[in-house]
Amino acid sequence: MKPLDCDVIVAGGGLAGAAAGLALKAAGLAPLVLDAGPAPEPGAAFDGRAYSTPPGSVNFWRGVGVWPAVEAEAEPMRDILVSDGRVSEGASPLFLHFDHREVAGAGFGCMVEDRHLRPAAFAALGDALRHGARVVSVEAEPGRAVARLADGSALSARLVVAADGRESPLRAAAGIGRIAWDYPQAGMVSAVSFAEPHHGVAHELFLPAGPFAILPLRGNRASLVWTERRAEAARIHALPDADYLSELEARFGDFLGALALEGGRWTYPLSFSLAHEYVAPRLALLGDAAHAVHPIAGQGLNLGLRDAAALAEVLAEAARRGEDIGDLAVLRRYQQWRRFDSAALAFSMDALNRLFSNDVTPVRALRDVGLGLVNRAPALKRMFMRAASGLGGAAPKLMRGEAV
Ligand SMILES: Cc1cc2nc3c(=O)[nH]c(=O)nc-3n(C[C@H](O)[C@H](O)[C@H](O)COP(=O)(O)OP(=O)(O)OC[C@H]3O[C@@H](n4cnc5c(N)ncnc54)[C@H](O)[C@@H]3O)c2cc1C
Repeated sequence: MKPLDCDVIVAGGGLAGAAAGLALKAAGLAPLVLDAGPAPEPGAAFDGRAYSTPPGSVNFWRGVGVWPAVEAEAEPMRDILVSDGRVSEGASPLFLHFDHREVAGAGFGCMVEDRHLRPAAFAALGDALRHGARVVSVEAEPGRAVARLADGSALSARLVVAADGRESPLRAAAGIGRIAWDYPQAGMVSAVSFAEPHHGVAHELFLPAGPFAILPLRGNRASLVWTERRAEAARIHALPDADYLSELEARFGDFLGALALEGGRWTYPLSFSLAHEYVAPRLALLGDAAHAVHPIAGQGLNLGLRDAAALAEVLAEAARRGEDIGDLAVLRRYQQWRRFDSAALAFSMDALNRLFSNDVTPVRALRDVGLGLVNRAPALKRMFMRAASGLGGAAPKLMRGEAV
């Protein structure tokens, strides 16, 4: 029989696929990450994408050797202010304040721009990453999986990981169904600079159409994730910059002084997706291919990192015991670990979005009182902070800062 080309083929080199490749390398396995897209241009300009990276995710990137290349560009999040508001009215006085002094150690983590994180992850993968390589099918054979590529070639490994994004053609081809729906909302993403310093404070403002997040970036800038009804998002997106800024100011207020747009702006339709199974013979799903969540708390990629860390840990342990790492019994351990955690988070993000994206007066009054009450209950606040840190629940070793 022809020898295997590597231990694990990762189909999809987005950030979750790249993270999986790096975690598998850190676990002593030989992965090959294949991405359908072209290699990114070096030195790309800011494209609006930035990720909230809680302490567990910082540990992950440090553990796989990427953090030193991005640390200097990451902006720590010192405080988080959550408030309820209406356009042109400003925030409700009953807000929730998460203060970095209330959490031990690494605080709330950092904001990291995609233009720094993605190239650093790709550089750390080195020869284990190939661009321009589209996987068109995966076949499970005895003892191996064979991935066929669009150029007609084929590669074999013990296992194929599908990290091919929320529409995941490989999940569909494996016959794995999913629960999915579209939100009536779109997420508008842009970056702004301010006249006044932001002091590392992140704001989550709940407006009737959905959450509006202001997330601190280096150099007195912030990444905005602004949720609107789809038709309204399309209208605002089409406005010239000056009118877009006025719409922004109506929601954002003027507490940080004059605003200026930094670079472009993007609009993403929002949807929910949760695969019924995360594994099939010689196949494991990971990242958005397994679960796509509402960006209300910026947790999507962080879930993908937990998948990558958990999969690497399960496979490393199986390899140490002499088991076949592509065996379905081994893969089910990964599914058991990750499916409940990601489903619980996906449904809580959905519930939060439903609770906060409306303007019904009794609901609004109740949630304002709720925010005020949580603010005065230190134990509850600590519970929320732990859940958001990426260290809660059964966090894999890489998220806890330990070697695989
Ligand atoms: C508005 C918004 C804000 C967000 N903010 C945050 C945040 O602050 N923090 C956070 O953690 N998350 C955030 N997220 C979520 C995060 O962006 C996603 O969860 C994450 O980028 C998904 O990564 P992925 O690698 O799973 O998928 P993708 O990024 O979709 O990557 C899939 C890759 O697979 C490749 N591919 C597809 N098909 C094939 C094939 N057949 N063969 C080979 N390659 C293939 C594609 O080229 C692509 O590179 C946000 C999302 C949105 C919409």
